Amino acid sequence: MKLPFKINLEDKVAVITGGGGVLCGAFAKAIAQCGAKVAILDLKKSNADKVAAEICSTGGYAIGVEANVLDVASLVAAQKEVSAKLGSCDILINGAGGNHPQGTTTKEYLYPEDISNNEGLVTFFDLDPDGVKFVFDLNFLGTLLPTQVYAKDMVANGKGTVVNISSMNAFTPLTKIPAYSGAKAAVSNFTQWLAVHMSKVGIRVNAIAPGFFLTEQNRGLLLNADGSPTARAHKIISQTPMGRFGESDELIGTLLWLVSEEASGFVNGVVVPVDGGFSSYSGV
Ligand code: NAD
Repeated sequence: MKLPFKINLEDKVAVITGGGGVLCGAFAKAIAQCGAKVAILDLKKSNADKVAAEICSTGGYAIGVEANVLDVASLVAAQKEVSAKLGSCDILINGAGGNHPQGTTTKEYLYPEDISNNEGLVTFFDLDPDGVKFVFDLNFLGTLLPTQVYAKDMVANGKGTVVNISSMNAFTPLTKIPAYSGAKAAVSNFTQWLAVHMSKVGIRVNAIAPGFFLTEQNRGLLLNADGSPTARAHKIISQTPMGRFGESDELIGTLLWLVSEEASGFVNGVVVPVDGGFSSYSGV
């Protein structure tokens, strides 16, 4: 990966949840290229190991660790392993997150006829509480719990930085995905809360709100089975002033800026949109 610029993270340990995924895998590689030792935490160990192996094959230092961001015991076990193999955590990136079909409505709007004829539809009234809960837990608790586990290292060191991953839907909800929108709004809100709460112990907390990046978790919403863009994908692109989806590499500059003490030492509690202008555009 060609970095937009380089920062010095030698002697730092970074922990990246969801690091086996598309966006956070790219984050892990970028942070490793800046010299940090990287722990890639993921529910899918094989994905974490794959990213770690790529980093090690190019001269970096990384380990894959199986961890469930919703299971405190698994997070504590991961923390022990990271601490023993890499040292205490300086940088935490809370990347694990996503949506679930059971927290998603089929249509953007509810029409009167949908009530009497809802065959094959998930209307607002059919949303599954378990699906909604899954999404809230994964995104919100899945950010809070790893922070509880790893920020202790930072408090002990008197410094550290946390980067959460929010989304466009935190600013204005996106149609069809009430659970994911609400959960990411909670992540943005928590980012501000935590930045204030941790400000006396030397921990900065910020978030990145990516616009639309084609990854595994949104592929079904954005691409048809034949790989052509869905109507929703066309709509997104037409509402994105820059007229395209983002590439994961385009988040790296913001990430490196936020984790660099020299570059952003007085930046605390911000949620930075990286969205090609989507959140600024009213559609007119
Ligand atoms: P992805 O699906 O490629 O990666 C998510 C990773 O999280 C996967 O490797 C998955 O195994 C892991 N994961 C899921 N549940 C977990 C759990 N309970 N414990 C540990 N790991 C778990 O998704 P991505 O697009 O790279 O998303 C990364 C982050 O960016 C997510 O928080 C997502 O909500 C957010 N985001 C993505 C986009 C986008 O356009 N792709 C836009 C805005 C925000």
